[in-house]
Amino acid sequence: MKWSFDARIRRAAELALKYPAAGDLLTFYRELALFQKPIFEALRSTAETDVRALAPYFTPLIELVARHGPAHLADQGKARLHDPAAVEALLQSAWEDGAAHTLAADPYGRFFARVLLQPYAEYLASRGDVQASPENRTCPFCSSWPVAGVLRGEGDGAKRWLLCAVCSTEWVFRRVLCWNCGEEDKDRLPIYKAEEFASVRVDACDTCHIYLKSVDLTKDGHAVPMVDEIAAVALDIWAEEHGYSKLEPNLLGM
Ligand SMILES: [Zn+2]
Ligand SMILES: [Zn+2]
Repeated sequence: MKWSFDARIRRAAELALKYPAAGDLLTFYRELALFQKPIFEALRSTAETDVRALAPYFTPLIELVARHGPAHLADQGKARLHDPAAVEALLQSAWEDGAAHTLAADPYGRFFARVLLQPYAEYLASRGDVQASPENRTCPFCSSWPVAGVLRGEGDGAKRWLLCAVCSTEWVFRRVLCWNCGEEDKDRLPIYKAEEFASVRVDACDTCHIYLKSVDLTKDGHAVPMVDEIAAVALDIWAEEHGYSKLEPNLLGM
């Protein structure tokens, strides 16, 4: 696993201080990562692969959200997921139907399922080598969409990876290519940056009007992509205002 839960937890605390406007989001994210870490460790130590093993974590997750998250999220969790059968059904459909896509119309279900599916899917992905082809538009392990791009230096330039929203697998993807519609004309693939976020940028497409934020590790070697992506929430607001939309929201649903 490239980005340990400890690294995410540490980075969320750092960035909450650096970007006070995103402080509440990052503090909530940190609590979620603290909750996910022992789940990952328990799955790994027992070699558990049944997604239903996540069901007992639902009640403590709802309690965590009630303490640290938005009230409406905790209320929805309590109202809809008190019944163990509903919880198992949600987990199974979220995992088996190509991860999160079918839950796109159900942001509450997606949130609760994803907090638990991430450590589960990351554990499964960590058991072997995931083989990716450079043309993979979706995660080569779990078929989910990317939540962010990751740029790393290579030779004189930088190479781009896409980061899976669910299992955190990364796979190499050409920089000048829209992962959603296949656009390759660089004039239709604008990049937007803001001074405030030196290491995060918006990779947009003027053909299909989607965007993805990329985290540039050549600009900040301490960045942790899934956390830095959340910290730069101001770029999401900017992108939406300029007519672009994100296909895959991050863990916090943004
Ligand atoms: Zn994946
Ligand atoms: Zn496109």
